[in-house]
Amino acid sequence: MTTSTEATAERSRVAALPVEAKVCLLTGADSWHTYGAPALGLRPIVMSDGPAGVRGITKDDRNPSASVPCPSALGATWDRELVRELAAALGTEARGKGIDIVLAPTMNLMRTPLGGRGFECFSEDPVLSAGLAVSYVAGLQSAGVGAAVKHFVGNDSETGRWTYDARIAEAVLRELYLVPFEASVREAGAVMVMAAYNAVNGTRMTEHERLLRGVLKGEWGFTGAIVSDWDATRSVVPAALAGLDLAMPGPDSPWVTGLADAVRAGLVPEDVIDEKVLRLLEVGRRVGAVLPRGDGPPEPPAISPRDNNPPDRGVSPGGRPPGTPRSPLRAERRLGEHPPAAGPASPATAAPELLRRAAAASFVLLRNERGALPIDPASVGSIALIGPNAVHPVIQGGGSAAVHPAHISAPDDALRAALAGQATVTVAPGCHTWETVPEPPPRSLTDPVTGEPGVRLEFRAADGRLLGAEHRASTVFAWWGDGLPGGIGWGEDGTISLLATYRPEVSGPHLAGAAGVGRLTLTVDGVVAAAGDTPVPADPVQTMTRPGEVTGVVDLTSGQPAQVRLDFLPSAHAEGPLAVRLGIVAAPDEEAALNHAAAAAAAAAVAVVVVGSAETTESEGFDRDTLRLPGRQDELVERVSTVNPRTVVVVNSGMPVLMPWAGQVAAVLYAWLPGQAIGDALADVLLGRAEPGGRLPVTMPAHEADAPVLRAVPQDGRLSYREGLLIGYRGYDAAGTSPRFAFGHGLGYTSWSYEALTAGQPELAAGAGLSLEVTVRNTGPRPGREVVQAYVAGPALGPGRPVRVLGGFGSVTAGPGETATVTLTLPARVFARYDEQAGRWDWPPGRFTITVGRSSRDLRLSTPIVMG
Ligand code: BGC
Repeated sequence: MTTSTEATAERSRVAALPVEAKVCLLTGADSWHTYGAPALGLRPIVMSDGPAGVRGITKDDRNPSASVPCPSALGATWDRELVRELAAALGTEARGKGIDIVLAPTMNLMRTPLGGRGFECFSEDPVLSAGLAVSYVAGLQSAGVGAAVKHFVGNDSETGRWTYDARIAEAVLRELYLVPFEASVREAGAVMVMAAYNAVNGTRMTEHERLLRGVLKGEWGFTGAIVSDWDATRSVVPAALAGLDLAMPGPDSPWVTGLADAVRAGLVPEDVIDEKVLRLLEVGRRVGAVLPRGDGPPEPPAISPRDNNPPDRGVSPGGRPPGTPRSPLRAERRLGEHPPAAGPASPATAAPELLRRAAAASFVLLRNERGALPIDPASVGSIALIGPNAVHPVIQGGGSAAVHPAHISAPDDALRAALAGQATVTVAPGCHTWETVPEPPPRSLTDPVTGEPGVRLEFRAADGRLLGAEHRASTVFAWWGDGLPGGIGWGEDGTISLLATYRPEVSGPHLAGAAGVGRLTLTVDGVVAAAGDTPVPADPVQTMTRPGEVTGVVDLTSGQPAQVRLDFLPSAHAEGPLAVRLGIVAAPDEEAALNHAAAAAAAAAVAVVVVGSAETTESEGFDRDTLRLPGRQDELVERVSTVNPRTVVVVNSGMPVLMPWAGQVAAVLYAWLPGQAIGDALADVLLGRAEPGGRLPVTMPAHEADAPVLRAVPQDGRLSYREGLLIGYRGYDAAGTSPRFAFGHGLGYTSWSYEALTAGQPELAAGAGLSLEVTVRNTGPRPGREVVQAYVAGPALGPGRPVRVLGGFGSVTAGPGETATVTLTLPARVFARYDEQAGRWDWPPGRFTITVGRSSRDLRLSTPIVMG
């Protein structure tokens, strides 16, 4: 923070700049950088996507990033410390890549289990999401990197996200959807907030003066900058007056051409522009992008959770984020040492041990009959590892959150390694789920020019002139404007060619596929295998997440190299990231694969079936259209469990799926989209080296129709949040419906009894929080961790009010037979309701019941509390 004299001087310096110079700062210089302002001592600020890794300004196999468990997995940990630790590691990695701001975390709620981007959210509950958001932001910012919390607000589904108008009652906004944002701004001091694409109650979020200027900057005292979601700024005057500070990306935005004119025409007061520049400077100061003035020492990044207004009353459970020091955090790096942006060799820094531990801690054991898990490596003898995701796990969701990890530990490799010399592991995929032809294994490709493993990329002008060439290790590419030679891009006439020598592992028909938006021609040994033009998708991110594909069948002979060439002319009409991919796979025979899997299961002591999402199932840019597992996976589980009573199903999905077989298999383990450590973490948990420590952050429905909100499809552009407060478990409770597995459920490897519950005080004053002490005993055979959940039932139950809500949570660890006591802090807000008429929080007097337990449907102890 600057002193008031410095602030006044800075204000004058800003005011003295020509309006064009100021306006220039308010649109990005490119996809990820702002412009610097030497006159103000501000260098360009660099941003990168998150939240499940820090991609950097390119997504490139030469610049890999740690792939961490997706946020729904982090939600499943219910562990603030772990989330903080992981986010701090992401912050360090961001610094190593020259990034100042990570566009994360995603604060939207899982309103519908079909939400394509649900895997990017922490949970369906505002208190759980807020608690983890505060930790995430504090952890990231402890490394001197800013968090841009997103997408403010109402972007809880993807269908029509660019335009829909979310109709959300004010009380519902206040009591549900704004809560995580409020906590991350007021308690963790988030440096940026990203305004969403959608509108809320008739006004675009980038133009929403009441929510941006009124609530965020006014009521919550947000001192950072509001950045638009990418290309979400669609107006000049309304967006500028509403409080938006930075239009991203650049170099084009409506503000570039219009904002200076609007100032000169008197439509936007110049001091409104000055305020935006001052806010950018404040962000720059917090992330170490402000250069020293005069002879003074350089200013290091200094991000304090108290830079924004502290809350007058508690918002998130537990208040101060764990590990947050009382004084402003000061990272060690000095400005002169600022690393170059996204150098090609910047290493991934999140420790493999942390990624593995975090993934295991997020796995939720939903069912475990007759001690099916853990598996004793010494006595099991044989395991059949079955399922498409055992061989091709899905480690992350699609879209801007996806990163390129240096390494993925596959379940088959990890289990084989863990059981080497102790038990046999047979592997059978059983069926396939992919929609686009999968990438060929890296070992099967060589660069025809260098002879190295991988492929050659060539960029050519329309006249065939070579513009550039690269050796690459991947067959999937995406560019956001960086890394492509001039003349290659949407609307340009240059082509991208991918050349490779492919060595088939089996003989017979192979499927070859080329995906990208534009004209594609795929030849194998000089013969066209597939060619055509693919359509421009509705949402620009789908150019990367779900581009059209052309496919063909070619006959290949095992070990006999084939020359593959893919030519891609990007569409003249598309926008968004430019992406292209090559796939080749031996044509599958599913009947044979199912039979093989059933035979392998029958012959083994334990069958572990890893099912789940395919690569394109869960993504930004579209919602799922069913909760059913893709392909014939349900049939696969049924067949395996019929022949092997010790069938353990592992679900590799970021959001709920239907599990019609859940009651007939021995165990079900939910593994989310756990990042690059999936295989090792799975081996640890299956073999009992780690406890599956997670609890559900989202309700698992028995049937699609049971979900309180299922399809979020705008009608005439409007998306009605008519269920009000009753999303997730609140909706199941209100309807009296039994979920397949309840919010908060998770067994772990030991059992617990709840022995005592003491409230800090029997009477509460309006506006006060409550502390609880809960004592639990580990009644099982192993040490373990218990997540203790407290739910609050209010006195003023009315139509549309939830039966009970999560008020707080905490965890304990204890050995067999031991007791442990945890203190939970319930924020004042969970005792309040928002009075729309009066426009304020109201604490209804009367009797509340506090219950604690193991899930929203497994409540063990209760105590009354009276609000005076
Ligand atoms: C997404 C944001 C993302 C941005 C930049 C948008 O389409 O909604 O979450 O940060 O792109 O990639």
